[in-house]
Amino acid sequence: MGKIIAVANQKGGVGKTTTCINLAAYLAFDRLKVLVVDMDPQGNATSGLGASKGDDTVSIYDIITGDEDIRDNEIFQDTSIPTLKVLGTNIDLAGAEVELVQLDTRREFVVKDALEKIKDEWDYIFIDCPPSLGLLTINALTAADEIIVPIQCEFFALEGLTQLMNTVRLIRKHGFNPNLNIAGVLLTLCDSRSKLAQQVAEEVRKYFGDKVFDVTIPRNVKLAEAPSHGEPIVNYERRCTGARAYYHLKEEFKQRQNGGKK
Ligand code: ATP
Ligand code: MG
Repeated sequence: MGKIIAVANQKGGVGKTTTCINLAAYLAFDRLKVLVVDMDPQGNATSGLGASKGDDTVSIYDIITGDEDIRDNEIFQDTSIPTLKVLGTNIDLAGAEVELVQLDTRREFVVKDALEKIKDEWDYIFIDCPPSLGLLTINALTAADEIIVPIQCEFFALEGLTQLMNTVRLIRKHGFNPNLNIAGVLLTLCDSRSKLAQQVAEEVRKYFGDKVFDVTIPRNVKLAEAPSHGEPIVNYERRCTGARAYYHLKEEFKQRQNGGKK
C-alpha cells in the first residue's frame, strides 16, 4: 500500500523542496519505490532531481488538465537513483489554479483522483507544494495521507503556521480529507551555535510537541549546491553534515511510519 506525503508550508524558502528531494532520495536509496510529484510551478524539485521542466515533457499540469494518462509509466522521468522517479512540473502549472477554480465539482480532488490510480504501485509518493495555500496546495493536502511541515529556525518561524494549521483543519472538517495526518514538523536551516535558533526550536517543540522530528537540518552549503547539479545530496556529497542530517531524518521518518513514535 502506497503512502502519499505532502511537504507543505506557505512560507517561501523554508526547505520544502530540499526536504522533499533528499528524504525521497534516501528512501529510494533503501530500494523503496518513490515518486516525487512537483506541484510548484517554479519547478525546483524537478530540476533539482535532474529532470526536465520543458514543454516537451509531460508534467503534473497535463494530468490536471486530463491531457495525459497518469497510468502511462513513460511520463515519469528518471533520476540518478533507479527507484526514484519524478512527475515534473512546468510553468503552465501557474495557470492551473485559475483553471481549477473554474471546475464546478471536485476541484479540490483532481490530484487525489489521479494519484489514487497509481498509488499502490509506489511505496511513497512525495508532493512538493508551492509557497501558497491556493488550490494546488489544497489539492496536494486532499490527496495526501500525511503532511511534513518544514519550519526554518528563525525569529518569525511560527508566524503563518496558524494559517497552515487552520487550512489542515478545514480540509479535515469539510470532508476533503478527514484523515489527513501530520507526519512531522521539521526544523530546517538551523545554526546550532545560534542562541536564537535554539530558542525558536524550543518554541516550536512547545507548540507541536512530539510531532516535531528529533532530527534537525543544519544550514549546510552543500545542500544548496546539489540541486544545480541535478543531484540529491546522497549522490552529490554524502559525507557532509547536511547529508548526514537527511540520512537520519530518513531513519526517524521510517521509525515513525512503523509506529515507533507519533
Ligand atoms: P519555495 O517556497 O520557494 O519553494 P522551499 O521552501 O522549497 O522554497 P528550498 O528551495 O528547499 O525552500 O530552500 C530555499 C533555499 O535555501 C534554496 O536555495 C536551498 O538550496 C537552500 N537551502 C535549503 N535548505 C538548506 C540548508 N539546510 N542549508 C543550506 N541551504 C539550504
Ligand atoms: Mg520549493
